Amino acid sequence: MFRLDGKVAIVTGGSRGIGRSCAEVLAAQGATVVVTYVRGADEAKKTVDAIVEKGGKAEAVGFDVADMNATETAIADVAKRLGRLDILVANAGIAQDNLVLRVKEEEIDRLFAVNVKGAIASAKAAVKVMMRAKTGRIVFLSSIVGEMGNGGQTVYAATKAALLGVTKTLAREYASRNITVNAVAPGFIDTDMTTQIAGEMKEGMLKSIPLGRTGRPEEVAACISFLCSDEASYVTGEVVRVNGGMLMG
Ligand code: NAD
Repeated sequence: MFRLDGKVAIVTGGSRGIGRSCAEVLAAQGATVVVTYVRGADEAKKTVDAIVEKGGKAEAVGFDVADMNATETAIADVAKRLGRLDILVANAGIAQDNLVLRVKEEEIDRLFAVNVKGAIASAKAAVKVMMRAKTGRIVFLSSIVGEMGNGGQTVYAATKAALLGVTKTLAREYASRNITVNAVAPGFIDTDMTTQIAGEMKEGMLKSIPLGRTGRPEEVAACISFLCSDEASYVTGEVVRVNGGMLMG
């Protein structure tokens, strides 16, 4: 089930965390996976090595998704070099927390540049290739906070809510080309991004998760891998929550 043999996938920010798990799962299903990174060349190499050790195919490419030109060029190069591009997981993202009274303009600009512009630039480049092939899978990483908000995360929540609009719009624009576009909205997942959350706040959060624990990156990756599969051919414009029950309905 869910085989991806012969397909090419790009996972932006695939050097660690959810992106890394996702790259590992897609490679285990048979895809050639390109993991991208911005600063973590060593981490990206570790992801690639781990995949190759298990008999999979992977490579790493470095660029800043906030640089639209660099992103479009890098993705077009990958598609040209590997001869196709079937899957884009627009995972690269950053978080910076602040009460709105303390939010600075640079913070808004940077978070939107990476989380929103970066995702749109990646999708634009991928769609160009997928349109010609008349098939493709795009998955964006939104977040539970994009749907329910979270004190101290005005800007981050805004970027993740924006991706829901992007997902639904692209799903409509490219359905006729057989390109599906979905979002995954993780809850509280154990990665470097969430390690800074202080103990007291973390405890409070755990109480609001019916499953009573944080999630693992591979639990998000499993959901993404389904959305990238042939079997998910009738799922588009959807937001799939992976949050232990923290937000339902
Ligand atoms: P992480 O910080 O562990 O990894 C983020 C990845 O994005 C890294 O590989 C990093 O190199 C890459 N990246 C960051 N800025 C970049 C840039 N400018 N250009 C290219 N790559 C860049 O984060 P994570 O927890 O694995 O999160 C992955 C995605 O899932 C993010 O979009 C995040 O917002 C989202 N998310 C995470 C959680 C969570 O609880 N961890 C919850 C909801 C949503």
